[in-house]
Amino acid sequence: MNSRFERNGPVDALSSYPTWAQDMVGECESDKLAVVSHELFAQMSAARLEHDATAAFMGGIWPVIERFPGYMAMNLLKTQFGRSAGDNLARRWLVRNIRVEQNHAEYWLTWADGVGVDRQTVLNGWVPPNAAGLANWCEDVARNDTLAAGIAATNYAVEGATGEWSQLLYDSETYRNSISADVRTGSLRWLQLHAAYDGAHPWEALEIVCTLLGTSPAPHEVAHITECVKRSYTCMRMLADHCVEPRRTIRRTAEVAA
Ligand code: FE
Repeated sequence: MNSRFERNGPVDALSSYPTWAQDMVGECESDKLAVVSHELFAQMSAARLEHDATAAFMGGIWPVIERFPGYMAMNLLKTQFGRSAGDNLARRWLVRNIRVEQNHAEYWLTWADGVGVDRQTVLNGWVPPNAAGLANWCEDVARNDTLAAGIAATNYAVEGATGEWSQLLYDSETYRNSISADVRTGSLRWLQLHAAYDGAHPWEALEIVCTLLGTSPAPHEVAHITECVKRSYTCMRMLADHCVEPRRTIRRTAEVAA
């Protein structure tokens, strides 16, 4: 049964959402923590990440950054104005926020450049399967799954965890100072925009998912959304694992020696 959901409390308070959504967020918390508290971001914020790992990070996430407005566009195509309150809300939000993404790809390349990874390396680099899993998953869920699942996996889960690690890095004076002063401000722009200071985006995405599913969705619908959110976090964690994986450096060394 889909009982209509209308938010009464603040957008960024978990208590404003239906019980099933609160439970879903709780059930996914440890998977999100595995991303946000990953040693990759600890090493980055301490400015201890090796250059190879930095290049793997910049190039590994790039396909998701480049394609993010595309995921939103595929979700937009699923909406139909007037069909439901959730459709209307999703349509309005996606139209507005696709435009917000306009400069983010360029800002990512500027950040990469500022930390010594030139744009050609990011644009043309090979992304290994472990790292490409996140982009493939986002593409798949945005293209083939429901509107609620697509928004939960990308705008809620990926953007939410990203907001948290972005804030971690942006708050680190050590990290900010590790970037050459003449390019620092421009280089940090992407992080500044994605840091969770006023990170309403993931909350707004959760509101859309709840408006689409209502206050009492079927258990299988809740299970599916939970699975999609967890999968996004798991793909992010695998990408982070890949960046700090010692074998990656060894493989590179072996390639150079060959
Ligand atoms: Fe963005």
